[in-house]
Amino acid sequence: MNKISKLFSVKYPIVQAGMIWCSGWELASAVSNAGGLGLIGSGSMYPEILDDQITKCKKATNKPFGVNLPMLYPDIDKHIETIIRHKVPIVFTSAGNPKTWTEYLKKEGIIVVHVVSGVKFAQKAQDAGVDAIVAEGFEAGGHNGRDETTTFCLIPKVAREIQIPLIAAGGIATGRGMLAALNLGADGVQIGSRFVATLESSAHQNFKESIIKAEEGDTLLTLKELTPVRLLKNEFYSQVELAYKNAASPQQLNDLLGRGRAKKGMYEGDLVNGELEIGQVSSLISEIKPAAEIIEELVKEFKRAQKEQSTTKFNFND
Ligand code: NDP
Repeated sequence: MNKISKLFSVKYPIVQAGMIWCSGWELASAVSNAGGLGLIGSGSMYPEILDDQITKCKKATNKPFGVNLPMLYPDIDKHIETIIRHKVPIVFTSAGNPKTWTEYLKKEGIIVVHVVSGVKFAQKAQDAGVDAIVAEGFEAGGHNGRDETTTFCLIPKVAREIQIPLIAAGGIATGRGMLAALNLGADGVQIGSRFVATLESSAHQNFKESIIKAEEGDTLLTLKELTPVRLLKNEFYSQVELAYKNAASPQQLNDLLGRGRAKKGMYEGDLVNGELEIGQVSSLISEIKPAAEIIEELVKEFKRAQKEQSTTKFNFND
């Protein structure tokens, strides 16, 4: 058992990212039942919806699962009340100051993990008393860091600077990717995009199909003046690009984005006008599958790659 599987009491150190509009109770419970840690993405759920989702998840699995809580969610105190009432054992906080809620949640006996995109934020989260950190690189889909630090550069640096368990995220969708992340110093992985293209994800079928069609270079990080976000290129993305060419102000970009674009794209399947948040690794995804099959493949490939690694002799001519 490694640090992450021990912390969460799960079989594998594989966390399914809590993603808005894509990760409800069906996905979270399927991942937890398969030996990973499933997360409900609460950022797109009204309080009564989160309540219902947690109730359903508890019925669907007797394994640990968690909730991802973006700290800029408007009714965050209602979500926290719901999480505590249901005795959800694990909370992943993101997009905000880890000091705000960590102590409060930990007093309730909840394991708290904070998502960061850089070393400074990782140290801040450790100081705030979180139990583990997710360090998410530039490759990741959706909301992202401003500094464009890739997973390859981020993980070794964070691993060197912090003492608590570290989960790598961004660009990981295969067993080989998972092994690479652990070799870089992580104790576990968080995987988002690969789990969007599953039977259990609540993403619209159109969005799932666009992920499996995605090629290298089809996603880009944009809207840094607002909240940086990695999107699949589509008509909406072209409009953003045009706005930049016309030197749009942050206010004009905000007006263009409007409200509910993520829902339109990812949940309602509007591939033209919606926001389609997905990672670079989508170019490696070619099939929509059950979540349990993905976990099984990840573990199988990880073990095979680990074996190859231990038996491969590199010749440096020295
Ligand atoms: P928008 O402001 O564009 O839209 C808000 C969306 O959230 C609407 O679609 C709305 O649903 C839904 N919603 C759920 N609960 C509430 C609530 N209490 N008050 C208002 N709206 C609510 O935001 P986004 O869609 O981009 O993001 C939604 C949330 O997810 C935000 O809190 C955001 O910070 C968070 N988040 C976003 C990420 C991203 O990559 N975009 C990543 C992580 C977190 P309806 O249309 O049914 O009213």
